[in-house]
Amino acid sequence: MYKDFQAHLKSEIKSIKDAGLYKDERIITSPQRADITVKGGKKVLNFCANNYLGLSDNPRLIKAAKAAMDKRGYGMSSVRFICGTGDLQKELEKKIAEFFGTEDAILYTSCFDANGGVFEPLFTEEDAIISDSLNHASIIDGVRLCKAVRYRYANADMNELENCLKQAQKQRYRIIVSDGVFSMDGNVTPLDQMYKLAQKYNAMIMVDESHSAGVVGKTGRGTTELHHLRGKVEILTGTLGKSFGGAVGGFVTGKKEIVEILRQRSRPYLFSNSIPPMVAAAGIEMFNMMSRTNKLQDKLHANTKYFVEKMKKAGFDIKPTQSAICAIMLYDAKLSQQMAAKLLDEGIYVVGFYYPVVPKDLARIRVQVSAGHSKAQLDRAITAFTKIGKELGILKK
Ligand SMILES: *Cc1c(COP(=O)(O)O)cnc(C)c1O
Repeated sequence: MYKDFQAHLKSEIKSIKDAGLYKDERIITSPQRADITVKGGKKVLNFCANNYLGLSDNPRLIKAAKAAMDKRGYGMSSVRFICGTGDLQKELEKKIAEFFGTEDAILYTSCFDANGGVFEPLFTEEDAIISDSLNHASIIDGVRLCKAVRYRYANADMNELENCLKQAQKQRYRIIVSDGVFSMDGNVTPLDQMYKLAQKYNAMIMVDESHSAGVVGKTGRGTTELHHLRGKVEILTGTLGKSFGGAVGGFVTGKKEIVEILRQRSRPYLFSNSIPPMVAAAGIEMFNMMSRTNKLQDKLHANTKYFVEKMKKAGFDIKPTQSAICAIMLYDAKLSQQMAAKLLDEGIYVVGFYYPVVPKDLARIRVQVSAGHSKAQLDRAITAFTKIGKELGILKK
């Protein structure tokens, strides 16, 4: 059998390559941080990690992780409800709920799992899930695993959402589901308007704070902080794999009965291993740091503002952003790839995105700013962008 199947796979791989969509991995041989070394020894400035607070190589988190390994060992070797729950995992859940101002939290090994496991235990074919068209793949998959009736509205389009809510009055329970920050444009979901609609049409809300936690809001508490709705949203999901140190782990936080049911019925929680003690301990240390100071958030906000203003001044077309994601619009797929390659030669690591990742003719370079970037590093990036922008005729000479 495999011979035929192999030929089939090979032809699939070829068609991916022919379409120019084959993904190569760039190998990093240093810790993840602002200045990284890639295989071959080249040193580059990293502007494409989700390391928004620069915590991926933070000494305090590393120390906390090492100490936990000495005290609690390496792994848990169990799902949570059999014997995979340690004091550290419980403490981390408490910290997550405190951070977001919610009632309780439940950990998963990733946010992909959290989103995969959150819908099916809560909603049935009698209910409605109303989802933003640009929601993350894990939300889409999670919704697929659930029998609820699905509605979809165009990205952040509150008129379409209202129409969906009207139609969904037929169902028993309704929940609006959205990413907090959309990763290609950097826009924040209009949670204030969503909340008003939810009140008007008797619906609940779930926000995935993966790209917004640690970033959005004055103290980085996410979209509910930005829109003054702390504690008002029924479900938040998020990851420990981006702002929060960048290791692994995901969570659902929100109303306590929701979390309680998930502990009973959520399949990725019931049938997959617990996060290791070192990750829990580093997470606790990270939330302790956040509760003491907003220094990193302040730095991130200042860095983002600085970068966007300078780039605009240089003449680049940048999408309005409310996060640390800056989309530098080029509107041409080939140009986006050329530009990313030339920037890499200049020691600036960014990624160009084009169809089908973003709509046709909306090709761009995405820059992710971090609190871990120094002003000098931001200046180096801006200088390189300007130089290559002129070379490629994007900017006037
Ligand atoms: C990154 C991301 C995830 C996945 O998080 P992991 O913890 O890496 O699985 C889920 N949702 C959104 C919106 C994300 O950006």
